[in-house]
Amino acid sequence: MRIVQKYGGTSVGTIEKIKTIADHLIKVQKEGNEVVVVVSAMGKMTDVLIGKAKEITERPDRRELDMLMSTGEQQTIALLSMALKHKGQEAVSLTGSQAGIQTTGTHTKSKIKSINKDRIEKHLKDGKIVIVAGFQGINEAGDITTLGRGGSDTSAVALAGALGCQCEIYTDVDGIYTCDPRVHAGAKKIDKISYEEMMEMSNLGAGVMEVRAVELGKKFGVPIYVGRSLGEKNGTYIVEKEQIMEEKLITGLSINENVLMVNLQNLYNKPQKIANIFSALGKQDVNVDMISQSQSVEDMVDISFTCPATEEDLLDKAVEMIATQNPALKISKNQDLIKVSVVGVGMISHSGVAGKLFEIFGEKNIKFYQVTTSEISISFTMDKDRKKAAVDAIAEAFNI
Ligand code: ADP
Ligand code: ASP
Ligand code: MG
Repeated sequence: MRIVQKYGGTSVGTIEKIKTIADHLIKVQKEGNEVVVVVSAMGKMTDVLIGKAKEITERPDRRELDMLMSTGEQQTIALLSMALKHKGQEAVSLTGSQAGIQTTGTHTKSKIKSINKDRIEKHLKDGKIVIVAGFQGINEAGDITTLGRGGSDTSAVALAGALGCQCEIYTDVDGIYTCDPRVHAGAKKIDKISYEEMMEMSNLGAGVMEVRAVELGKKFGVPIYVGRSLGEKNGTYIVEKEQIMEEKLITGLSINENVLMVNLQNLYNKPQKIANIFSALGKQDVNVDMISQSQSVEDMVDISFTCPATEEDLLDKAVEMIATQNPALKISKNQDLIKVSVVGVGMISHSGVAGKLFEIFGEKNIKFYQVTTSEISISFTMDKDRKKAAVDAIAEAFNI
């Protein structure tokens, strides 16, 4: 059998851990498997590298940041390959580019465009364990790009798709829980979750799996397992929804802390004016999320939207353009917010979830600013300091 395994930052956080993973990989290969391993940077290395860049400037150039961040994963692939070779196992470390991973789009949040798997296939045929740097690839200009935080998951699933095999994501929790177990200690482990629900949970902030990884898994039919590194195999399988028998109204709760809300006050309520604003944001590749608009008063409206706080530099460039086009506009930003969402396919056929949430927030006096819904989720932006109150109340009400 062929298999792609991915080990996250904590799992490769020390040399001792890398050596232990090497032993494990040798065992997996000896059992008759072709093994491709995707690794993250060791421990908090990516944060350390970003911290260094920020010692130079609060807004490092995104191309150079990619150049810097990608070195984190390169350290791990080299060390793991050395460990394997030292134990007598043939292995080869490959950067994203060497592994044939072509990317496109804005630096630090690029997408995988294609994978040329020839080199990996050749090494597998030669009996080597192939170790690929996660989180990175090479774009049309021949520059190294990264895939957004948590992007090693995406590298792993994309490789599994290209190689036609399953993908195992090894991390520092026992699997996917109804809520981040670090935020809500009573969260329950989920045995099976559909691609759709996991995509929604990830997109709304569940950092355990990167959203594009799940998207690619669905697109290419890659079976994904998520579990604890070197632990028992009792984690979570991400599968097609037809394979899930259990019917639950709410599957999980996600929290997104990477939220920036922008308020635009005093805007002419002309469709073209509003279109220009969002087109300026689009041009800078700002990922606009929740949008709300006030009632028009004397032809003037207020508009609020959210975007990732980590895109503030892109946002500011767009805002500069917007301000010149609309001199009377008052623009303000709020970073003290989070987005709390509940997710569940049960919402397609059952109503009342929104009502229950409004009731809970009323009872606990939790103020929220925006609400958005999809077929399988409801999200609220609220003040950061209300996180615990909101999570505890929702978890209790929906048995999460
Ligand atoms: P890795 O470095 O292995 O990729 P991450 O830190 O990216 O690890 O992801 C694992 C973390 O995701 C966990 O430690 C947990 O705190 C967090 N997490 C957020 N939401 C969930 C969830 N619903 N289930 C499990 N873990 C979650
Ligand atoms: N090292 C990168 C990060 O910390 C990618 C990853 O771990 O998935 O975001
Ligand atoms: Mg991760």
